[in-house]
Amino acid sequence: MLKSRRSNLKRFFEKHSLDAVLFSDLRNVRYLCGFSGTEGALLVSTNNAWFLCDSRYTAQAAEEVQGAEIRECGAIRLDTVAALAADYDLHRVGFEAAHTTVSAYRRMSEKLNGIDLVELGSDLDEIRICKDKAEIEQLASVAELSSRAFEAIMGEIKPGVREVDIALALEFEMRRLGAEGKAFDFIVASGERGSMPHGRASDKIICSGEMITVDFGALKDGYHSDETVTVACGDPGTRAREIHAIVKTAHDLAIEAVRPGIICRDLDDVARSYIRDKGYGDYFGHGLGHGVGLEIHEMPTLSPRSTAVLQEGMVITVEPGIYIQGFGGVRIEDTVTVTSDGCRVLTGVDKKLIIL
Ligand code: ZN
Ligand code: ZN
Repeated sequence: MLKSRRSNLKRFFEKHSLDAVLFSDLRNVRYLCGFSGTEGALLVSTNNAWFLCDSRYTAQAAEEVQGAEIRECGAIRLDTVAALAADYDLHRVGFEAAHTTVSAYRRMSEKLNGIDLVELGSDLDEIRICKDKAEIEQLASVAELSSRAFEAIMGEIKPGVREVDIALALEFEMRRLGAEGKAFDFIVASGERGSMPHGRASDKIICSGEMITVDFGALKDGYHSDETVTVACGDPGTRAREIHAIVKTAHDLAIEAVRPGIICRDLDDVARSYIRDKGYGDYFGHGLGHGVGLEIHEMPTLSPRSTAVLQEGMVITVEPGIYIQGFGGVRIEDTVTVTSDGCRVLTGVDKKLIIL
């Protein structure tokens, strides 16, 4: 599996006439060699791969790293890179420009003096854009865990409880079910706060008749899940019900339209045009979704400008919403994987309006 992931790098070697690529972004390192620790780098040449770490990680690397030789480095990792470059005739070495600070780049230029350092841009992020079978199963498993955790604590959403209490209960339940942690700071936005698409859980007390948007996800084996449920605490009233129904239909229509070959902006438009036709076009300000994997937000982006084309194996969110200042909001989000003829929904909470 890791071998086939690394063979996908071939086109970068060809496109940029590279002898090697130095990976230091830990998500890419994990993806390409299996190392899950918090410090390390991977140097991949056309025929070899070396995992570079200091003595704190050698034992962990010996357990986890596959298909790469482990090199324990001294105080300065770049000295090891320079020595490998000299031994193996690596003259043009690519690096992850988006994950390299200016000072790290200066250090690299100094230590790897004489080597052509080639900036690899956002096209490098595309190496992880289509998930393989093992990744899809990991993403399905973390999505299922996270949905189960929400269903287990849903009953705690009631008048008198603070938003932050819901977030804490949910995180605790995820950990109990085996998650490493939360995928991001949960959004729990009740009543008027629902108009903030990214309203983090606050001290606000939930009141009867309010809608509550909960956007949550777990982290397991490095993979993230992402799901949003908007529930009501008692009868939320006609307007809120109407908005929920519109967002739900927009969400369902978009999920029905997911298939290989569709351009992301056209998929975005399936939900957006429906919301616009219902008179709420001005209240859906963000893109329809994003890729999910070793990062919570990754390629592709689903927005009115996105020209990316969906392919089998991509894992994306579908998350339309309507947000009205002074009133509240509704968002409904599922994570799905693109299959040969449509999609499979990985997240599991029923998206019909749940009245608690
Ligand atoms: Zn989300
Ligand atoms: Zn999302």
